[in-house]
Amino acid sequence: MRPVGKLLCAAGSLAVLLSFCCRDTFQPELLSGARVLLTGASAGIGEQMAYHYAAFGAEMVLTARRETALREVMEKCLSLGAKKVFYLPADMASPSEPDRVVQFAVQKLGGLDYLVLNHIGTSPFQMWGGDVEHSRWLMQVNFFSYVALASAALPTLEENHGSLLVVSSLSGKIPTPFTASYSATKFALDGFFGSLRHELMMQGRNVSVTLCVLGLIDTATALEKTRGKVFLSASPASAAALSIIRAGVSRRPEQFFPWWLRHVHGLWVLLPNPRVLQSFYNYSSA
Ligand code: NAP
Repeated sequence: MRPVGKLLCAAGSLAVLLSFCCRDTFQPELLSGARVLLTGASAGIGEQMAYHYAAFGAEMVLTARRETALREVMEKCLSLGAKKVFYLPADMASPSEPDRVVQFAVQKLGGLDYLVLNHIGTSPFQMWGGDVEHSRWLMQVNFFSYVALASAALPTLEENHGSLLVVSSLSGKIPTPFTASYSATKFALDGFFGSLRHELMMQGRNVSVTLCVLGLIDTATALEKTRGKVFLSASPASAAALSIIRAGVSRRPEQFFPWWLRHVHGLWVLLPNPRVLQSFYNYSSA
């Protein structure tokens, strides 16, 4: 066989081996009775995650600010098969809320197996306009509340060999236009939870930390904000939600959705060319 043929054979065998090693071993029955605290559960990807967890038989505490929306999600979850569902309205802009929410969840469910950090505060999709106060507020909602929720939940997660899921964005890996403050909060999550993951491993504490890196998803808020401003197609929220849940069960350190975003990020690290990125954005709109 010629050297090129040998190389192709070796590459093919490696691809088969890799696909075997990386095959999806998701077992939904592992979620039956799992105790989940889910933030940002009243809408969008969080709402979709609540429905998947419900169908898998999980027990949940749902939180967000709007009580009526949370009640409606809870009712649908119960009809889908959730064993127990509670909700607690809370505004994550308030520094005292994370502790209260975790205490409520531990009291209602008797402990936690999964903490899913997903909520985000509203931020405009436009050029940076100098609103430092908004950046500070957004850092509180999108970052500090995540740190506080994780910190309050770590003892119960450790006791139950549980998992911490952090929902982030490609804007937390690649600085994208029109999202300066949002992007900053998501980069902060990567730094903090990446470092925490190392420390938990070094201390032999059995809590997995999964960072979920999402591309554009077809939630109402994302579509409304980006309309006419980006040349990108959005992926379905229900599929994004399922991919986050699966990554948590597999205790993966990082999950990209859609899967090819991993390669987009890899390419960016090798060739960080802003011109390529800029071609996906409509600058005359902002
Ligand atoms: P969404 O539809 O806007 O939902 C946001 C959720 O957060 C809602 O449940 C909202 O409920 C809650 N929330 C808002 N402000 C809050 C506050 N101050 N305190 C507590 N909860 C608050 O968002 P999404 O599009 O589903 O995004 C979910 C996650 O995916 C986020 O982490 C986001 O960064 C990430 N992501 C999304 C996209 C996308 O294209 N959609 C792309 C990349 C990453 P209330 O209004 O009831 O409080």
